Order: sequence, then structure tokens, then C-alpha cells
Amino acid sequence: MKIKYLYIISIIFLGACAVPSSSNDILNEKNRYLFYFNEEIYLHEEELKSKLLLPAEGYTVPEYLNLLPNAKREYRSGQHMGVDFSAPLNYPIRAVFDGVIVRSNQFQEDVDIDTYKTFLEMSAKVGKTPDDIYHFILLGKSVVIDHGFSITDKFRTITVYSHLSSIPNDLIAGTKVKKGDVIGFSGNTGTSSGARKNDKGAHLHWEIFFDDSNGRYFLGQNIPTELLKNNIDLLFE
Ligand SMILES: [Zn+2]
Repeated sequence: MKIKYLYIISIIFLGACAVPSSSNDILNEKNRYLFYFNEEIYLHEEELKSKLLLPAEGYTVPEYLNLLPNAKREYRSGQHMGVDFSAPLNYPIRAVFDGVIVRSNQFQEDVDIDTYKTFLEMSAKVGKTPDDIYHFILLGKSVVIDHGFSITDKFRTITVYSHLSSIPNDLIAGTKVKKGDVIGFSGNTGTSSGARKNDKGAHLHWEIFFDDSNGRYFLGQNIPTELLKNNIDLLFE
């Protein structure tokens, strides 16, 4: 009996010791990574050719985890894959780097709130946010910029600026933009407040995706929450 107890106590003791040291190893391993998919597919700070501009000048990366990638989005059965910058209504939004416009939908109007709720109910029913509902409804007025391989030569990179209140009329697919050019103004289109036609909840939902022949990766993917804000900060000047 005594030997059995000793065995159980030593298992508990070893277990208690093993957990913190292995999670520290993971933290150290993923320090300064922008995303980590596996041993071959990742992006480390050192691999960025140049750092990006903050899309809304003066508004830094938030600390609150719900505003960062990997946060759950229960209302649409999805996961947040962007950063929510707290820019107020009609604040100028800038291209974070040189690129070419892929998409700009300045003439889109919000659906009414009942239709909006129906789209969310359908998302909940299928257990995820379908791509069409996400891109054509929930992002609202939005701009997508292709940066090619100019941010990092390992991945083709795009950035997405959404919930905009307005987008300049001459900003159309194919337009070349420079880092710092104003590509729109912050708002709440694509949100439930936008569907209710009020001025509440304005912010910039911003995304950056990295593509290679195996797939698409998002900023913060597989980065422990403790490192998320610090690692995302590394992207910006
Ligand atoms: Zn967001």
C-alpha cells in the first residue's frame, strides 16, 4: 500500500513540475512569431522586409483578447481572424504598405436588421460563418489590398480594412496605393449597428493574410494568448 501511495504522490509531483516548464518552452519558442503553422510554415519578425504603418494613426494594437485574432465570435459561430482598432467614426484609414487594390465595394449598403439576423441564424445553423456571408455582408464596406511578396518574400500577403463608413470613389480594383494613402474612413457597416442605421460601434476591423501553395494563414495563428499582443506589435513601425 505504501509503495502505491508513494507512486501516486510522485506522479502528481512530476506532473505539477512538467506542466509549467513545457508551457514556458512553448512560449519561448513562439516569441516574436507572427504566426506558426508547423516547423516549415511560419513567419518570424526577422523575415519581414519592412514594418507596417498602423492603419489608423495613433490607434495601437489593443490588449483586450476579444479584439485580437483567435477570439471566438459566438454571434456568427466563428473565430476572429483580425485586429479591432478602436478608431472612431469617419477616422481616416491608411494602407499599411504599398500594394494594388483587389476589392473595393464603396456602393454596398447595409441590409436591414431582420435580414442581418437571418444571415446570422443561418451561420449558426451550419456551425460556421459561410464565406459569402462573411465577405459580402459582415465586412460591410471594405477594401482588400494585395501586397504581393513585398512584405515578406515567403508569402503573398493581403490586408483587409472593413466596416468602413466610406471609400473614395476612384479607389477601384487595380488602383495602385502607396503606404500611408487614405483608402477609406472607419465606420460600422456590416455590423448590427450598421444594419440598424445608427452611429454606434464604429471601429476598424483589420486583417492580414499570408498565402503559399499549401494554404492561407492569419496573423496570430497558433500564437499563445500571452504573446499575442506583443507579437502583433512587431508588425508595426
Ligand atoms: Zn473585428
